[in-house]
Amino acid sequence: MDLDLTDKVVLVTGGSKGIGAAIVREFIAEGANVVNVNRSTEQGEALQAEYAKQGKQCLFVQGDLSQTDACQRAVKFALKQFGRIDVLVNNAGVNDGVTLEDGPVAFNESLQRNLVHYYSMLHFALDALKTSQGAVINIGSKVATTGQGGTSGYAAAKGGINGLTREWAVDLAPYSIRVNTVLPAETWTPLYAELMDQAEDSTAAKQSVEQLIPLQQRFTTAQEIANTVVFLASSRSSHTTGQIIYVDGGYTHLDRKCTSSSSSIDLTR
Ligand code: NAP
Repeated sequence: MDLDLTDKVVLVTGGSKGIGAAIVREFIAEGANVVNVNRSTEQGEALQAEYAKQGKQCLFVQGDLSQTDACQRAVKFALKQFGRIDVLVNNAGVNDGVTLEDGPVAFNESLQRNLVHYYSMLHFALDALKTSQGAVINIGSKVATTGQGGTSGYAAAKGGINGLTREWAVDLAPYSIRVNTVLPAETWTPLYAELMDQAEDSTAAKQSVEQLIPLQQRFTTAQEIANTVVFLASSRSSHTTGQIIYVDGGYTHLDRKCTSSSSSIDLTR
């Protein structure tokens, strides 16, 4: 299927690792040019060099997106390099465990890390996206729907992203800009692997999560998230906007009887 993404300019936040890196790779495989913003430099520069050798553009911009000027710099850089932006992928975020007990300062900081830059990136890229009649894809989290406990800031941020997806889809429909959110639940990334490795029995810890996932009792791959993101960015989804799409193997919505721990109980009686 031709996704018609050749030579499109895609601005990705947090594209050096995990889900973001899979998104970057998928856009480049589709022939797009990428600008990738992260705090740390090592992986971003390595990606840039890897693709430069192949004559492909995956330009790295260093910046902490919780600082508004980093958002503005990233957009300016993309426009300076390519003169246009066709797709904005708001992906960077961290489940930082800011609790009710941590207080308003920590809560505000969590919103800066997880929500405010989604707004800022779109604010600064807006004129360019109007010109290109582009697409915005946000990466959310199941926490916005299910809660998790012990993570008020992140839950509020991800809930805010769902709200803004609808709000921005309405705002931007007159400009033919589409806005959608892809929502992971349990996606296997190097960071997730590190987390599991901290458990006394990392294999058991991994299995305990896997058994909660109805479809095939396995983690979603970052590639599966990226596939959906690229499709939503493409002209193949030209009449899809304001949607919150769960790529989660049924984790968030399907009946608990689908999970292996309870499937032995006969619930039909
Ligand atoms: P990850 O592996 O930690 O990658 C996050 C990326 O974002 C990194 O490249 C990080 O690079 C960058 N980043 C984070 N904060 C940043 C900031 N303030 N400024 C600039 N760059 C920043 O995380 P992930 O698991 O792929 O998560 C990606 C998205 O998916 C997040 O929005 C997350 O909430 C969502 N999500 C993931 C899962 C999951 O199971 N993995 C589940 C639900 C939702 P630097 O550290 O170098 O800045």
